[in-house]
Amino acid sequence: MPIVVQKYGGTSVDGHEKVLAVANRVKALRQDGYDVIVVVSARGGATDALLGEARLLADEPAQRELDMLMTAGERVSMSLLAIALNGIGCPAVSFTGSQVGIITDTRHTDARILEVRPYRVVEELEAGNVVVVGGFQGVSTAKEITTLGRGGSDTTAVALAAALGAERCEILSDVDGVYTADPNSVEGARRIDEISYDDMATLARYGATVLKEDAVRLAERCGIALFVGASERDVPGTIVLESPAGREEPVSGLTLLPEVALVSLPANDAEGLVDDVARLGDAVKLVAATNEGAAIAVDRRGRPENGLGPRVEATRPASLIAAVGPGAGGAATVARVLTVVRDLGHKVMVVVSSGRSTVVAVPTEAAEEILQALHSALFQVQRYR
Ligand code: ADP
Ligand code: ASP
Ligand code: MG
Repeated sequence: MPIVVQKYGGTSVDGHEKVLAVANRVKALRQDGYDVIVVVSARGGATDALLGEARLLADEPAQRELDMLMTAGERVSMSLLAIALNGIGCPAVSFTGSQVGIITDTRHTDARILEVRPYRVVEELEAGNVVVVGGFQGVSTAKEITTLGRGGSDTTAVALAAALGAERCEILSDVDGVYTADPNSVEGARRIDEISYDDMATLARYGATVLKEDAVRLAERCGIALFVGASERDVPGTIVLESPAGREEPVSGLTLLPEVALVSLPANDAEGLVDDVARLGDAVKLVAATNEGAAIAVDRRGRPENGLGPRVEATRPASLIAAVGPGAGGAATVARVLTVVRDLGHKVMVVVSSGRSTVVAVPTEAAEEILQALHSALFQVQRYR
């Protein structure tokens, strides 16, 4: 039987009625003749609540223990969903990431998947069961429980879809697809029918939480199309794939990373730049350097004040706004972005454009206003290419 992997996010399993609604949708898919693997997240807010509790007990909790703690959130969701499925006559069994053979490296709280050994999933599907898997977690090569970074249930779903040769991988959430900007905060945001892996990964990198960047990159490497849609109803959402069909707009989407530290480095401190970029790793979202000096934008989320290192000359809070798409790195988009910021009376702190994106750092208090104005400017008339 063809296999479908469905991933339900935190808001979709938040409460008994929602769990039951998910169970009914899964049962219907099963009755349509599919083998079904369901990946679930912790209930909305549960992961943050667990992290909050840990921080009440220690300033810097051990990363290993944080992983143990955080995986508990997904365990609650997966077992409740399996209970609900069995309760409505749809045989199901739940597993942790470790049980379904998600093998990761040893980087606690932000591990990468190295391999998937899905023997137990195959056995259970053959036995006629729906397999429910706790997302966001695996077991390391050192046999420790690991998590895959925030939003990591998306990565679990893609990894399982790839390992099992699934026909579809559906990422189901409280929004019915990927929009031109976050539909919960930007007026006039429109749903995108199809978007390329590359543009989606860049949107995710700069704040579009609807998909995790790692998951999109993994899907690209494995050639798996992602169907992003609403958990509550079966409506056409967004397909993430290699080459979108039809005419693409110059800018596919806009996104906002609200909380970054803009770090200025002294002129000619090449060594400092190399050291800081290497140490801060994936948290570095933008680097702009000349021999007159450099600026690095570091994602602040989850980073303590003193986590930026000694070389920093000045750290300013800022937000990043990214425009992403086939024409988004071109001069016309850069000019548009700069004009919108200037016309609103604000200053651009840094601007960097490359192949398919323009990213600006702007004052945090002005970021939402700029994003809204830019969205109106770009998506009401997108004919300037
Ligand atoms: P889940 O718990 O289902 O994984 P997330 O909160 O991780 O859900 O992702 C869904 C959220 O992503 C939406 O509620 C929406 O506010 C946000 N979002 C940000 N940017 C976008 C975008 N461009 N398109 C759709 N949703 C977006
Ligand atoms: N529960 C985890 C988080 O909140 C993983 C996920 O939702 O995908 O980040
Ligand atoms: Mg998510």
